[in-house]
Amino acid sequence: PIYMDYGASTPLDPRVHAVMDDCMRNDFGNAGARVHSFGMKAAAHIDLAREQVADCIAAPKDSIVFTSGATESNNMALFGVLDYLRSIGKTHIVTTAVEHKSVLGPMAEIEKRGFTVSYVQPKPCGMVEGDMVAAAITPQTGFVSVQGLNNEVGTIQPLAEIRAVLPAGIIFHSDAAQAVGKMNFTLDQCGHPDLVTLSSHKIYGPKGMGALYIAPHIRAHIKPLLFGSMYEGGMRAGTVATELCAGFGQAAELVHIELADDLAKMEALRTLFLKKLKGTLPDLVINGHSDAAWRAANILNIRVPGITNEDLLAALPDLAFSPSSACNATRTGHISHVIRAMTGADQPARESIRLSFGRFTTEMEIVRAADMIINAMQTIQKMQGAA
Ligand code: PLP
Repeated sequence: PIYMDYGASTPLDPRVHAVMDDCMRNDFGNAGARVHSFGMKAAAHIDLAREQVADCIAAPKDSIVFTSGATESNNMALFGVLDYLRSIGKTHIVTTAVEHKSVLGPMAEIEKRGFTVSYVQPKPCGMVEGDMVAAAITPQTGFVSVQGLNNEVGTIQPLAEIRAVLPAGIIFHSDAAQAVGKMNFTLDQCGHPDLVTLSSHKIYGPKGMGALYIAPHIRAHIKPLLFGSMYEGGMRAGTVATELCAGFGQAAELVHIELADDLAKMEALRTLFLKKLKGTLPDLVINGHSDAAWRAANILNIRVPGITNEDLLAALPDLAFSPSSACNATRTGHISHVIRAMTGADQPARESIRLSFGRFTTEMEIVRAADMIINAMQTIQKMQGAA
């Protein structure tokens, strides 16, 4: 099968694997035990990883808290801030209708806990602009959460523009799980969010690993989710997974060094993919922003009216892709909440598929995948015509 689901998870980079392997074999100590050399060596791995992850988004080193992944980071950002928001009488939160489930799920729970949440609807291209966020702000708003890059359609959100319209004092969070490694995502370029969610396995690192950037000036306002033996500067309990951390650090460093090359390669692959598909499928619709400056180079979200993602999943057993989003994807198809929000209709949301590729994808794979998709679509259309 051809792997076209890099948005769901990326393969481990062999250079990341090498670092993890060395760490697992040789440095098994507990980083909390800084009283002997075994603990010190583990701690050194974590210190280095913290620096590498911080450098990747141009953040101060001590602002990075390691977590078990972007889902935990989002939960920590959202639930961790609630007591503070309550204490200052701010009971309203603004987010977007196109966030990942790991933001929307906590938001639903937060609503049950007495907060109100506004979900800003996107433009048809998936973008949420500054004035659209501004329109949702009330005197009670204390927190705004907007993703960096949409995981389904690849639209990049204008975070600096959004930040510029927020009244002072509002805490600004961004889920950048898909953004890092797929665009220039530094704090400076993205409106200096106060909280940023990062994931390791979207950037060729190990699964079960992520981080939350917490700006030093709001650190006192964020409560940990896990209590016990406190690590991570008192922000999280539980022994840090040294080897996962070391792998994440190495993966982040590779993003830092190789981003421009990665982006150029992905853009070329995307262009090739589209050229093949567009040449043969006249009805092809491309979901997301059309301007290369505002979309990911590694995601192609498409549909052909009349063909469901369920039909395509059945017709393409040798192509690993997602019916829009990987999370909760089943082979019985999927209605994407993102496409529904963008189009205001169920049918496009039932027809869309996400093809996502990356560092290890070859031109040959793109050409073969395009041929497989074209074949499947034409066969389905013929069957529909005959019925
Ligand atoms: N946020 C976004 C935008 C994602 O795409 C994902 C994963 O698909 C997550 C959060 C969750 O990441 P993790 O698997 O690290 O918990």
